[in-house]
Amino acid sequence: MHHTSYIELSRSALKNNIQFVKEHLHSNCRFSSVIKGNAYGHGIELFVPLAERCGVRHFSVFSADEALRALRASQKKPDILIMGMVEGDSLEWAIKNGIEFFVSDPNRFHKAIQIAKKLKTKAKIHVEVETGMHRTGFSRKEFEMLFPFLKREKKFFHFRGLCTHFAGAESIANYYRIKKQRTHFAQAQKKLQGEGLKPKYFHVACSAAALRYPATQMDLARIGILQYGFFPSNEIRIEMMRKKKRYISPLTKILSWKSEIMAVKEVRKGNFVGYGNFFLANEDMRVAAIPVGYGQGFSRSMSNRGNVLIHGRHASVIGTVNMNMMMVDVTHLENVEKGDEVVLIGQQGNNEISVASFGEMSEQMNYELLTRLPSEIPRKITE
Ligand SMILES: *Cc1c(COP(=O)(O)O)cnc(C)c1O
Repeated sequence: MHHTSYIELSRSALKNNIQFVKEHLHSNCRFSSVIKGNAYGHGIELFVPLAERCGVRHFSVFSADEALRALRASQKKPDILIMGMVEGDSLEWAIKNGIEFFVSDPNRFHKAIQIAKKLKTKAKIHVEVETGMHRTGFSRKEFEMLFPFLKREKKFFHFRGLCTHFAGAESIANYYRIKKQRTHFAQAQKKLQGEGLKPKYFHVACSAAALRYPATQMDLARIGILQYGFFPSNEIRIEMMRKKKRYISPLTKILSWKSEIMAVKEVRKGNFVGYGNFFLANEDMRVAAIPVGYGQGFSRSMSNRGNVLIHGRHASVIGTVNMNMMMVDVTHLENVEKGDEVVLIGQQGNNEISVASFGEMSEQMNYELLTRLPSEIPRKITE
């Protein structure tokens, strides 16, 4: 099938980014590759084997359906951890298949033990404690009430982790809140140890925390955005570059999004292009139709505003972005033809359209823009 656009993932870029992550984790810290949100839009099915080839053996997802996709895509029997929701028959599936999961409330713990007893196996649990994000996790009281059960039901679970998540380590504005969370977590650790209970991993760090507060790396770090070639925030990016005294990012984007020209038209001065009167040709122009629109994740807010690359040069989006098409101005380019490559995100020649610039223009943050890339766009691997 000839698709209207496709996404490329660069193997060498991923290798570079994983190398960067590993250089920044201390040697006893295990690296968990976070692949929720369809591997931040990159595509779980291609990303998992690619990451495995870079030595990754631990993946973190949000839900059971993502765990299933990761499991099917994997070739190296990695550990897979569900950090979010796992309810109903998914919980039984997870336990049966040795999938690890966050236990973020007493209810899930007791259900898991029940199922483990029924299946005569052990559930692999990570107890998530609430430390200040106020999203999910055991409150202090609930946590203490869990201790007798942790002791009594020992035969029915592997205590794989004690964990929490920070409420915004990528912004220095949250410094005190993160500090308090770290203190709360340390208290939980101490209490647990006081009871003679010991999980395999203590883990709290995401990309931002692992870089900014290395002591949070503990036994395992859950790293998402860095792998894909992005810093969690500009703040962290600038901090890292200053520390290293280097002004070229050590990370490389692995994703590019490409399409091709569908048609080229001459437009005489004084005519409107596209729907309604959003764009008026003030001079004779040449415009190209690109078969990508908001239906493919190219935001309508890029109307009269966005850019693409053709022949290594920028071409402006003119008029409104349609459901499946948009028009770009190619008056300044020679010999533009149907079938020519169009880069929506990524490099062409010496120019680049970064996710950040695309995101800024469409008012989305990197995380959001990436995960919104429709999973139906075919993905392929390049060197
Ligand atoms: C998404 C997520 C991470 C990874 O965050 P990054 O900023 O992408 O590194 C880690 N832990 C939890 C619980 C998450 O939801």
